Amino acid sequence: MDQATKRELLDKDRQRVWHPFTQMKDYARQDHLLIEKAEGIFLYDADGNRYYDTVSSWWVNVHGHGHPRIKQAIIRQLEETDHIMFSGFTHRPGIELADKLLAIAPPGLGKTFYSDNGSTAVEVALKMSFQYWRHVGRPSKTKFAYLANSYHGDTLGAVSVGGVDLFHATFRPLLFDGYRLPSPLVGEWSGGRPTPEAAETSVAKALEAVKQLFETSAGEIAGLIVEPMIQAAGGMLMHPAAYIAGLRELCSRYDVHLIADEVAVGFGRTGTMFACEHAHVTPDLLCLSKGLTAGMMPLAATLCTDAIYEAFYDDYETQKTFFHGHSFTGNPLACAVALESLRIFEEEGVLDNVRAASDALRGHLPGLETFRHVANMRHLGLVAAFDLYADAASQTPYPPSERRGYQVYLEALKEGLILRPLGDTIYYWLPHCTTVAQLEDIVSRTSSVLERLG
Ligand code: PLP
Repeated sequence: MDQATKRELLDKDRQRVWHPFTQMKDYARQDHLLIEKAEGIFLYDADGNRYYDTVSSWWVNVHGHGHPRIKQAIIRQLEETDHIMFSGFTHRPGIELADKLLAIAPPGLGKTFYSDNGSTAVEVALKMSFQYWRHVGRPSKTKFAYLANSYHGDTLGAVSVGGVDLFHATFRPLLFDGYRLPSPLVGEWSGGRPTPEAAETSVAKALEAVKQLFETSAGEIAGLIVEPMIQAAGGMLMHPAAYIAGLRELCSRYDVHLIADEVAVGFGRTGTMFACEHAHVTPDLLCLSKGLTAGMMPLAATLCTDAIYEAFYDDYETQKTFFHGHSFTGNPLACAVALESLRIFEEEGVLDNVRAASDALRGHLPGLETFRHVANMRHLGLVAAFDLYADAASQTPYPPSERRGYQVYLEALKEGLILRPLGDTIYYWLPHCTTVAQLEDIVSRTSSVLERLG
């Protein structure tokens, strides 16, 4: 792109666009990166500079950008239909995808309800759970339990069960009340990676808090929502599978729906197709989006058990209809893409590559841990994260005004890396197609950034 066109676009961007999760004043001095091309694990800016997309374009990309089979799937579907409303009508990709999702999801889920982004997948789960208890004669079960540091999206229901105060506190007056539970392991990390014993104690403590809550209040709790294995936006906080297994057991014992929000971790990111598989657990409601379409189209799905579905299934006059839907619910192009992505998973050994890349990644992390500002290295599947401290040994944070994470972001761009920190937490959230050689290069470039920042 010529420089005049680039300048004109970026000026218009400043004048006309308000970007998400962005303090726009930061971009009064620093242009947004104008991306012109995306291919494989790389993004290319308007000057032809190449960047590793180590955050999978906000945790969505799976097979790399521009996968030819995905492109073809969109074209093929467009030749049949474009968007078709999904109430009163149905279509082949929507039907086939629902069938496929239920076949690969943890066993025991019976129905697929579509929407169009991760937040709406969560809204659907919350509303289904709430309405279910009314239909089965337990209308006092109206509240939700959620974890400190949880993130489930930005619509008001999802924010109500959100535990990241930086994002959510402003909106409290608009939200419904719930029960905030401690998340396991947080506060147990000082001194570095938790030992297996420390992790076990931490999980036991966190589960005890759930049990105590359920003992006193399960009669008014509809569901407990959790991001299995990795609390992502809350700081890439990872917990052992035993925590999810424990939640399943307690939710079953006390008649509370377990809502697994796998919007971020679903579709192979943690090394298994669904993160619940690490704990051999089936939730009552499973929220999916992001990687569902390999990150190519907006689509979401909330999977539920037959027991939940059947509580809504009655004559219209009984007023048990689930009155929820979106204009773009079950968009056929997105469903066709999701189906093609799942075929790629099966035919191109995608999960094998995830495991190989994950093993290679694990091998490189000790090198990053040698930097004196780095602490709390954690890793699962294609996700790895560490925290930056002014003094890692004593876990003394940088003063907030230093905005260390943001400095890392800016320096990483110079190294051809897109790192998008969460505060002072730096992480990788890599596409499934990442090769071992690319991993090595990414880690080496990250080391250069850390070295330069001192
Ligand atoms: N749930 C989780 C666990 C997420 O990480 C996100 C987004 O990052 C969402 C829900 C919301 O998804 P969306 O941004 O598509 O609304």
